[in-house]
Amino acid sequence: MKNSKKDLKTKYVFVTGGVTSSLGKGIIAASLAKLLQERGYNVTIQKLDPYINVDPGTMNPYEHGECYVTEDGAETDLDLGHYERFLNTPTSQDNNITTGRIYQTVINKEREGAYLGKTVQVIPHITDEIKRRVRLQEQKKYDIVLTEIGGTVGDIESLPYLEALRQLRQELGTENCLCVHLTLIPYLSAAHELKTKPTQHSVKELLQAGIQPDILVCRTEHALPNEVRDKLSLFCNVDRKSVIEALDAKTIYDVPLLMLKEKLDSRVLKKLKLPNKTAPELTQWKDFLGKLKNPTYEVVVGLIGKYNEYPDAYKSIYEAFVHAGAVNECKVKVVPIHSEQLDKEDIEYKLGGLDGLLVAPGFGERGVSGKIRSIKYVREKGIPFFGICLGMQTAVVEYSRSILKLKKAASTEINPKTTDPVIDIMDDQKDVTKKGGTMRLGSYACKLSKGSIAYKAYGTTEISERHRHRYEFNNVYKKPLIEAGMKVTGVNPESGLVEIIEVPSHPYFIGVQFHPELKSTVENPHPLFVSFVQAALAYNLSS
Ligand code: GLN
Repeated sequence: MKNSKKDLKTKYVFVTGGVTSSLGKGIIAASLAKLLQERGYNVTIQKLDPYINVDPGTMNPYEHGECYVTEDGAETDLDLGHYERFLNTPTSQDNNITTGRIYQTVINKEREGAYLGKTVQVIPHITDEIKRRVRLQEQKKYDIVLTEIGGTVGDIESLPYLEALRQLRQELGTENCLCVHLTLIPYLSAAHELKTKPTQHSVKELLQAGIQPDILVCRTEHALPNEVRDKLSLFCNVDRKSVIEALDAKTIYDVPLLMLKEKLDSRVLKKLKLPNKTAPELTQWKDFLGKLKNPTYEVVVGLIGKYNEYPDAYKSIYEAFVHAGAVNECKVKVVPIHSEQLDKEDIEYKLGGLDGLLVAPGFGERGVSGKIRSIKYVREKGIPFFGICLGMQTAVVEYSRSILKLKKAASTEINPKTTDPVIDIMDDQKDVTKKGGTMRLGSYACKLSKGSIAYKAYGTTEISERHRHRYEFNNVYKKPLIEAGMKVTGVNPESGLVEIIEVPSHPYFIGVQFHPELKSTVENPHPLFVSFVQAALAYNLSS
């Protein structure tokens, strides 16, 4: 840690969580970052995750929600999706640090002899590696780096991170390294009272780790009365103006405005001794919120997946619909439909009233037959269809079975012995045995055909999108499928991999091998989601 306080340019804001998990640290961090960005600061956000997996790519969505893939192909925490959606700037591998990655680096270095003669310990070796990674962002010349520490203070797993934070505050000075503590103020309805004790305890936990929080952000269902703010200030040793209320919001996109009202950004700048530059205008943001809250139209879109009872598994898809709906001044009601509960008898009842159907990404056999059945239904009924990754692959399987009459057509992921592998493992995946970080990941170029739905949506022939898969469209079946009416409208210019298929005889039928949902932001709603919502609206208005 060479940087002295004098030549330090980058300032740090850490966000810790107390009392319970799921308080929305990611949204608070992203909202604060948005306000600072609007004031003209160059900001980024990173997440420290205290689990031992090297990345969340090996966890299932029940454990961890969606796995968010960055431009550079890192499999990361879904909070990075919020950071991108709010800030409209891409994140990278450096924005997500896990305990697994930290230990892997330290242990590899130990084997190489980097610490010869020394006992390798949590302090200083693990904490040094945490600090090194946190400060990697500095080299990218950010004014302010926000760092969210995953988990709740008091967790055994978070201790090395809190210790690294304590050290950083000591090294950089608290005016360069703040701690914003997000906590819960529960309401006891029997007593009609908001309770501060859990927050007092969580601040004590932080103090035990040697950290006095600078700002308290208090999640609450009811406005904080002055007495409660006074009490929190007194008992938690935080100045009165730095007790910030975070009322439950109707939408996550309200939170930046709520934080602006509570002056969270001003408090942060004051404590960091940074100029309180021009107040954030948030013009585009407010315009988006205005449209989001006053839609002229409404459409109902089905989302078929096997984790449908767990919306975090499809976080970016839901959010992409929010962005695309707002721009179309259309409320998009997304109905989750479980792919395992779609028998022949259910189809009409479950899909008949939809204005559009999105078949979600996924892995493995579970629920695939329901997906295929639903695609057949919407293809035959002319209901707009949008397939993403596995959704595109199942659309190819369905078309091959129904139109090419290849009854055994399948993806080799689902049926390795199929005689018609219309979707097959990619060549460079054939010898891959390790599971972590080995898929086709990150951003790849794609060339679009003029006249296609995709081209109309993007308005250009050159695009790049993010991927996460091992299987691909099998080019052996390209010719027969094209002859049978399917169109390949997006291809990777280097490898020739098929990235987009469409069925032009259908009003709107598109499948994409990549994940467009990952690139949708408030300021840049994804063109394919925008176009799909338009198609759903057209269907709704005409039916
Ligand atoms: N399981 C499929 C594959 O690996 C699809 C992956 C996905 O939907 N992300 O190719």
